[in-house]
Amino acid sequence: MNLLGTVKARDKAFESKYDKYAEHPRFGHRPRRTGLNPDPYDASVNLHYNATNLDEIRRRLLLLTGEDLPNAKQLEPFWPKGLPRISGTAVKAEPAKQNKPTVPVTHYFDVERVCRRCSQPFIFFAEEQKHWYEELGFRLEVDCVLCHPCRKREQSLAAKRAAYERLVKSKSRDWRETLQMVNFAVSLSEEGVFSGRVVERMRAALKSVPAEERNRPSYKNLIARIKAISEQDKK
Ligand SMILES: [Zn+2]
Repeated sequence: MNLLGTVKARDKAFESKYDKYAEHPRFGHRPRRTGLNPDPYDASVNLHYNATNLDEIRRRLLLLTGEDLPNAKQLEPFWPKGLPRISGTAVKAEPAKQNKPTVPVTHYFDVERVCRRCSQPFIFFAEEQKHWYEELGFRLEVDCVLCHPCRKREQSLAAKRAAYERLVKSKSRDWRETLQMVNFAVSLSEEGVFSGRVVERMRAALKSVPAEERNRPSYKNLIARIKAISEQDKK
């Protein structure tokens, strides 16, 4: 292999590392190279804490003020050792749009993350950060700890749960709404949010469903799912 071939193979190996990263519907799963790579030791540059590490912060402070971070020793155990940012992916920030920052951020980087729920690696994209901290009004302290699929799942579960609670409390629930309520409970149980016992209690509510409705495939399917949950529970 010639030199160019070697370089290409190396770049390919580097990029293939991202094949297993969680997908973001807007940004994909690979770093978005902008070619911008601001120097973290430049006095006019201030990176978000998620893009840097304690060593870098201490060295920068030492360089700019001649002093060490006073509580560095206490902070050390809580700070990851590696450098989370991906080189050449910086996006310029607009400090005036940030929500009351203690220290305004001048650039965001694509940063490496591991999902706290499913352990899949993902990228918290520079452009996504810009959106969070400058459009949505999130404070800079707010961190992204879940991959996009897990965040979506969490939102959909929360919505299902709210709809379920509303139906449970409803005093004027008709049989159609009862079916909806049971469907939500079954689905939340399948997702591991509810225990099988919640679903077990739902069986009684199904008595309000008219006999002629019970021949429908959707109803039979619901009963089969309830059965599967109670069998799972007995194991
Ligand atoms: Zn995840």
